[in-house]
Order: sequence, then C-alpha cells, then structure tokens
Amino acid sequence: MPTYRFCPVCATALVPAIHGGKERVGCPSCGWVFWDNPVPVVAAIVERNGHVLLVRSHGWPETWYGLVTGFLEKKESPAEAALREVEEETGLKAEMGAFIGMYPFERMNQIIMAYHVTAHAGDITLDTEELAGYKEVPLEEVTPWAAGTGYALRDWLRSRGIEREVRPFS
Ligand SMILES: [Zn+2]
Repeated sequence: MPTYRFCPVCATALVPAIHGGKERVGCPSCGWVFWDNPVPVVAAIVERNGHVLLVRSHGWPETWYGLVTGFLEKKESPAEAALREVEEETGLKAEMGAFIGMYPFERMNQIIMAYHVTAHAGDITLDTEELAGYKEVPLEEVTPWAAGTGYALRDWLRSRGIEREVRPFS
C-alpha cells in the first residue's frame, strides 16, 4: 500500500513515531498521524432471474469477476451506498435484501460490508469508466473465490442451502 510522505494538513515531512502503541508516521509540526485504518467498502450480491451479476474492473485479467463494490459517501448508510453503487455501475435499480456479513480484505486494507440485493428488470448500462465487463451467472454455476468478496458470495449461497467450495483466486 502507498503511504503518506508529507503531512496532508501542513505539508511537513512525516517521521516514524509510536502512536497508539504502534509505529506509524506522524507530523512533527502539527501532530497529524497516519493511522492507516481499514477503509469501509460496500459490496452487493446482485441477483435477478436466478442469476448473480458479476463485474470486471479495468486492469483485471479477463477471467476475474467480482461483486459490485464501492466506497460510502459522507453521511450515507452502508445499505444506501450498496444500492447506489449497483445503480451507478450497472444502471439497474435494486431492492435491499439481507446483510450478509463483514469481510476483511487485508491486501487492500479494507473491511467489506456485503449485502444481497434483488435487481429489477431492465437493460444493463455498464459504467465503462469503472468497469470493463459483466456477466450474469446462473445460481447453479456461480463459484465463490478465495478473496475479499468471494467469501460473502459463499456465505450467501450457503444461506440458500447451496454448499459450494471456494476456488483459489487466480
Ligand atoms: Zn502537519
């Protein structure tokens, strides 16, 4: 992960120091500390017509597909953010379903809050600035992957009585 080198408040060069019992970088001038706390992210398992909608971001290998994800806006609830991200990224309006769980995604220093949503009928209009593609996979075929949002998909399938092994992430 990239780190800060200069204070975002006063632009002084940051120095390593112990803050809250751990070595972090902080500003010797104004006292700002780079805590590097995990960033909350929402994810949506988008279901419609017995399929799960998976999306592929730009820069991902051709075979990688994941859940619709995004950051919360200020003052937005996680559930609102999930529905907004689904609409922004796919053009589909959706109904909020169950909260699936919280999943650490250490590589990205994120904590993922995953929801199940049911999308309305309609054409998919992909946000091509963020996404390179999508696919709608039948429930009988969708396989969870061993990273980030893949565990949310596994747990949601399990809640439907579908036990499916997570496949290695590659
Ligand atoms: Zn400073």
